[in-house]
This record gives sequence, structure tokens and C-alpha cells, in this order.
Amino acid sequence: MARGLYVHVPFCAAICNYCNFNRGVLDEALKRLYVDALVAEIRHCPEAGAPIDTIFFGGGTPSLLTSEELSRILRACRDTFPVAADAEITLEANPETVSEGGLAAYRSAGVNRLSYGVQSFRDVELRRLGRLHSAETARRAVRLARGAGFDNVSLDLMLWLPGQRLPEWLESVDALVALAPEHASIYLLEIYPNAPLRDEMARGGWSVAPDEVAAEMYLQGLSRLEAAGYEQYEISNVARPGRRARHNLLYWQSGHWLGLGCGAHSTWDGVRWRNLSSTAEYVERMTAGRRVRVEARTLSAEERLEEVLFMGLRLTEGIDLQAVAARYGVDVFARHEDQLSRFVELGVLVHEPGRRLALTREGMLVANEIMMVFIGGTVR
Ligand code: SF4
Repeated sequence: MARGLYVHVPFCAAICNYCNFNRGVLDEALKRLYVDALVAEIRHCPEAGAPIDTIFFGGGTPSLLTSEELSRILRACRDTFPVAADAEITLEANPETVSEGGLAAYRSAGVNRLSYGVQSFRDVELRRLGRLHSAETARRAVRLARGAGFDNVSLDLMLWLPGQRLPEWLESVDALVALAPEHASIYLLEIYPNAPLRDEMARGGWSVAPDEVAAEMYLQGLSRLEAAGYEQYEISNVARPGRRARHNLLYWQSGHWLGLGCGAHSTWDGVRWRNLSSTAEYVERMTAGRRVRVEARTLSAEERLEEVLFMGLRLTEGIDLQAVAARYGVDVFARHEDQLSRFVELGVLVHEPGRRLALTREGMLVANEIMMVFIGGTVR
């Protein structure tokens, strides 16, 4: 089973009005201390020596790290873990933060995959979200990445944005296709209850599209991406052949990963924990040589199975029924036949007896409802 490292970088140049990730406004002095703390956490990991296949810098805005800071962190990873020669090393980047020299330095340090948070190719939508870049800045960022030698670039888009309807959404999809990234992620914008965006929407008179329009946006967006040669492999992700996100597959295929940095979550050899969330407290504790891991617990067989079913269903390949039966001694379909049959009849679920259980594309729109079937006491 593959193993990866997730490195959290909790700093952003400004805070977007819809964001509820673990992040704060960039403070250069705190960032320097944070990098020291991260390096210390990595070098003192009890899991040292385990082979690593993927490293993912997520945030926040990891592209606010200088190339020297990134190199120090990667050096600590390589000194502590045998990192595979062909490891996938991804950096999430905001388009407005990158420069030609900076990207070339990241590439030299070992980063071989860039994931840009583009979100939209329409400036009016980007402004509404409080993003700092424009569509042209995003295009330039992709050109700079190519110039710096990156041959594995992913672009994120969001749909169901305030004021966005089908034609505007497809305009962004077409703009993405024109840039020919190797991978793309399309996410539905979820506006949490206290998001500042809610007030701005009320003031601006912007509404989100009705549910059925959002569903059509998702379906037509995927069709366009497929027509352009991308293959969907997960509810929100498409890739060119051979370019699936190996790190994210760890999460969906129940692999093992260590989360490093404040608020990062880990699942490793059947144990799950998280690091405390506050950046300042994380730095303080690491500096004092104290523990930052909290809420560690061993997953029960029920929880592990639930996770395999939940995550497996996110993938277009679906759940491998044979593997689940061999590992957990459970015939998943027989156990939930009443509820699952209904979904099969509705055409949102495909059941190949003894082989796999997978969502249809329409099923991906109601994935949460279907996944609820698996909650609670499947293994006895
Ligand atoms: S850049 Fe990303 S992490 Fe930072 S505030 Fe915006 S959405 Fe949140």
C-alpha cells in the first residue's frame, strides 16, 4: 500500500470570502518559525524510515514558501524517509504568487507537479470570491510552469459560483481545456453558514443556480472535459492517461499518510490522529520539543471498512467487492441489498455481482445519499 506525506502551509496573502480552511494571513516572521517547526516535526517523526511514494504541499498557499524554505522541508523529508526516486511531489500554488525564477527553483528542489487554484477564468467571478488573480494571471502561471519544466500541472475550477450559470461555467471549462493541463479538479462551491461571501451575495444581489442547473453544469462540464481527452476517475477529478493524482489516490484507496504541520490529519497503519490547529501553538510546542499530535486512536474494523466503502465509491472504478469480501469477510451488496437495489433500479448505481459497485455519473450527484447506506456496523 502506498504511503505519502502531506505538508500543511497555513499562510495566505489574503483570506478569500468563502474559505474555511485552516489558514491565516501571511506573517513573514511566523512563517520562518513555522518552517523551523515543520523541519523539526519531520526529523523527529516516529515513523522515520518508512518508504514514501508521494509528498503533497497543501494549504493555505504553499507557493508563499521561498524555494529555500521548500528545499529545507524537502531535505528533511528525504533525510528522514526513503523517498522513492519517482515520487510524486506536488505543490499547491496560487497563480498570482509564482514567478519564472521561483518555479524553476521549486522544480530544481524536486517538485514535479503543480496544482493551481484557478477556480474560474472569468474575472467577475474571481473578484466576487475575493481571489487576488485574474484569468490572465492564471494563464500566465501555466505558461511559466511550462517554461520552468513542469510537465504535470493540475488546475482547480469551482462551479456553482454566485451569479454563475451554465454558459459562464462552460466558458471556464473551455478556457481550462485550451491550456491543456494534465489534470483538473472541479469542485462545487459550498458556502458555509458564516462565510463573508453570504453577506456580499445579499448586498450584490447574486444568487447561485438552482440545484438542477448545478447538476447540469457538473454533467456538461465533465462531458466537455471527456471530449477533450480527459478521463474522469473520481467524483471531482479528471486526468490525462497516466496522470491521476497519486497522492489523492492514497486517500481514496485507503493508503497511509502522515500529515505534517498545524491542523494536518494522519492515517497510518490503522491509527488516526490530527495535529493541533493553531499555527502559533504548533510553533510554540515544536520549539519546546513537545508533542503536537492529538486525538490519536486506532480505527476499528467497522470504521476501516466504512472508509473503504465511502472512498471506494468516490472512484469511477467503484468498490472492489472481491477485495472487500476477502479482507473484511463481508458481502457488501447482500448486507445492504434492500437499499442498494433501489439505487441500482434508479440508475444511479451499477452492481456487477461479485466484482464491483460503482456510481453512475448521475449517481455522483447524489453520492452522499448513497454513501449513507454504509454508515454504522457493517462488520459484526
Ligand atoms: S487562497 Fe485558498 S486557502 Fe487561502 S484563503 Fe483563499 S481559498 Fe482559503
